[in-house]
Amino acid sequence: MTQQYKPETIAVRTGSQHTPFGENSEAMFLTSSFVFDNAAQAAARFGGQEPGNIYSRFTNPGVTMFQDKLAALEGAEYCVATASGMAAILACVMGLCSAGDHIVASRSIFGTSVQLFANILKRWGLQTTFVSLTDLTAWEAAVKPNTKLFFVETPSNPLLEVCDIALLADLAHQSNALLVVDNCLCTPVLQKPLQLGADIIIHSATKYIDGQGRCLGGAVLGKKDVLEPVYGFLRTAGPSMSAFNAWVFLKGLETLFVRMEAHSRNALALAQWLESQPQVARVYYPGLESHPQHQLAMQQQKSGGGVVSFDVKGGKDAAWRLIDATQMLSITANLGDAKTTITHPATTTHSRVSPEERAAAGIGDGLIRIAVGLENVLDVQADIKRGL
Ligand SMILES: *Cc1c(COP(=O)(O)O)cnc(C)c1O
Repeated sequence: MTQQYKPETIAVRTGSQHTPFGENSEAMFLTSSFVFDNAAQAAARFGGQEPGNIYSRFTNPGVTMFQDKLAALEGAEYCVATASGMAAILACVMGLCSAGDHIVASRSIFGTSVQLFANILKRWGLQTTFVSLTDLTAWEAAVKPNTKLFFVETPSNPLLEVCDIALLADLAHQSNALLVVDNCLCTPVLQKPLQLGADIIIHSATKYIDGQGRCLGGAVLGKKDVLEPVYGFLRTAGPSMSAFNAWVFLKGLETLFVRMEAHSRNALALAQWLESQPQVARVYYPGLESHPQHQLAMQQQKSGGGVVSFDVKGGKDAAWRLIDATQMLSITANLGDAKTTITHPATTTHSRVSPEERAAAGIGDGLIRIAVGLENVLDVQADIKRGL
């Protein structure tokens, strides 16, 4: 059924349905456990001879519906929903790696993902080498015989660097490693990493999949045989998606196309306007022709996405002045919300990174990140203009 529909229709119509009362809008299944007809059925369910729900840490009908719809959108065989985006990354690594294994990761990944790899997983015997997202020779040089995973975000946050997913997938496969792509910024509306050769997709559903900044959630997607151990970790260790959050995300997926297109349209308009402002030293946005990887980004992505960053002249003082002069924008580090958000990465999301590492990563004191929302972009511009 999925194959006949266009992507926008898949977002609205595809996925398993549990409609005990014929309801048109999917119901929410707030139950921790499920009852069996008799002792033999309980035994068959637990033994895996009979499919069906047992307990909501393992499966829940609403979570299953969310997984099926997101899998259809990403073109994935299998999806494991998790309690947050970080839980998705943790479940992926815990399911697929063991102590003594090695990971190569881009330096330009979500700040908390850096902490997870560099500090926490390291204590459990997993080594991570961080390399530049765009330097393929550095990836090649970092590979070891025990390398299991390559981990990237493209475009990266906050600098919107882009890597060639197909080339990196080839390199990962030559190295007997799997390529994991955190597709949070693009969502399947703008980019389909599995079609480009990636093996696994990570999502923070907290961002654009929810779209209104309400719930935390995440997902891991890929081939079923590859991800069985990830599901095994989840049902045993427990960072599963809540039934309530799954219901919110399922509704979010229905409107993902129109929202992503509007976020992208607004972000491009804002980026073009920022480029014309004398107080702005540089704008980072893959949809701009001035972006160093504009061509690659436009081959790989349908549009530039909703996040725009820029360097304001005058460093930290000027950046803070600009942020404090806004009256409408939300000063918060979240992204993917209908409300436009503004952040100063150097003193928030990247404050735990040393100044030297920040400089090496190109995150200057004058850098501001905007996650462009769904307001009229002229109002967003006017609010930024106050402090420019
Ligand atoms: C927010 C985010 C995460 C973590 O997701 P949570 O839902 O906050 O745990 C991971 N990757 C990226 C790119 C993110 O933006």
